[in-house]
Amino acid sequence: MSFHDFGLDKRLMSKIEHLGFTEPTDIQRQAIPIAMTGQDLIASSKTGSGKTLAFILPAMQRIMKTRALTKRDPRVVILTPTRELAKQVFGQLRLFTGGSQFKAVLILGGENFNDQVKTLEKDPHFIVATPGRLTDHLTKGHFYLNGLELLILDEADRMLDLGFAKELTLINNKADHRKRQTLMFSATLDHAQVNEFAMALLNKPKRIAIGAAHTEHQDINKRFYFADDLMHKQQLLSHFLGKENFQQAVVFTATRADTERLANELAQQNYSTAALSGDLSQGQRNQIMESFAKGQQKILITTDLASRGLDLVNVSLVINFDLPKHSEEFVHRIGRTGRAGNKGDAISLIGPKDWQSFKQIESFLQQSFSFDSVDGLKAKFKGLKAKQSTKDKVKAEQASKKKQSKVKPHKPKVSKKTFFAQDAGDMPVLKRKKALPPSEIDSEEIPEAE
Ligand code: AMP
Repeated sequence: MSFHDFGLDKRLMSKIEHLGFTEPTDIQRQAIPIAMTGQDLIASSKTGSGKTLAFILPAMQRIMKTRALTKRDPRVVILTPTRELAKQVFGQLRLFTGGSQFKAVLILGGENFNDQVKTLEKDPHFIVATPGRLTDHLTKGHFYLNGLELLILDEADRMLDLGFAKELTLINNKADHRKRQTLMFSATLDHAQVNEFAMALLNKPKRIAIGAAHTEHQDINKRFYFADDLMHKQQLLSHFLGKENFQQAVVFTATRADTERLANELAQQNYSTAALSGDLSQGQRNQIMESFAKGQQKILITTDLASRGLDLVNVSLVINFDLPKHSEEFVHRIGRTGRAGNKGDAISLIGPKDWQSFKQIESFLQQSFSFDSVDGLKAKFKGLKAKQSTKDKVKAEQASKKKQSKVKPHKPKVSKKTFFAQDAGDMPVLKRKKALPPSEIDSEEIPEAE
């Protein structure tokens, strides 16, 4: 199948050719024809699968081929969970609106409110936005949604996880349902709130599940290393940054403090490093992301902020300095590499504190991973044994009791007299603390290595 089979306007086709895309990706192949018929859609697709064009192309086609319902209202609204992803989507949209009569604007939290009011007064056809700020403008009457034809929710699961349910509901309620089409994209469809929202917002949606979030990303080589403590992790990080062959790397940490500390550390080792953490202003974040995307630094250190949707084509190495708490986040993080057919490496450092997340990731991905090691930097830590659940413990105890009851008890031949004599004494046998059944011993954790 080629892009020609969709029956897209020839101006769109020439832009696609210009971008050098010859074949649609899976999500594009399945989503574009459905979206072009005007039906609602809920689709899952893995990161880097080409989902942005899967909604931009039908949106453009619709705007180019049909008349607007109102003169001033936006015709398409695209919502994303993070500012970074919104900018990314906006960038791709501009490739298509550029040179046409259609205006697209970007409305993000953290940026100048009054400038945005002026931007909205220009009656754009497309708005790409984060939900919080767009809702602010909507409730203040800076624009209306009576003419909205297409509402696109990108990474809906993440928007809901971030607590944007109220904003999404408000935006949905302000737009006319009868005339509107809704396309909802989510990393996973296996998410109760996403399904609840899909029922409320979508009209008999078609469902597409491509490369469910837990399927392996074939182009990414995942490697795991044990680490004893922070110091050890830092040594491993320096080792990999020195030894691995990569264009650009993203290092993920659990906390902002670690982000800053590692950035300083690596700067001292003369690596060109950018650090992205939540307490920066939006302007600073934009600057950092832009300069990293242009290749001005080799390494980006960040918390989960940058893990979703960002299209950083030169990133060929992801290092999880710490593992994320949620398994899906792991998939998103490593999805920063191996994009659009490129090969990538994802290295994860697993210390005692990461162990639980590691086991969850294994069960989420339905795989078990083996560990590699670096000569001279081998860890003492080798993982923790699983804690038994209370239910399992009770079962094990019952089984052990049953076993014991089958063994004929050894009855020492003692006379009543002897027994009383023992009873009156210190009773060494009868008072001894009961030995733990084997199941209990197994359930104990191996202590963390120093
Ligand atoms: P996305 O999943 O939308 O973030 O897209 C990931 C990357 O794939 C972006 O760099 C897109 O420009 C690129 N891409 C999108 N569609 C195609 C295609 N049909 N062929 C090759 N690359 C594509």
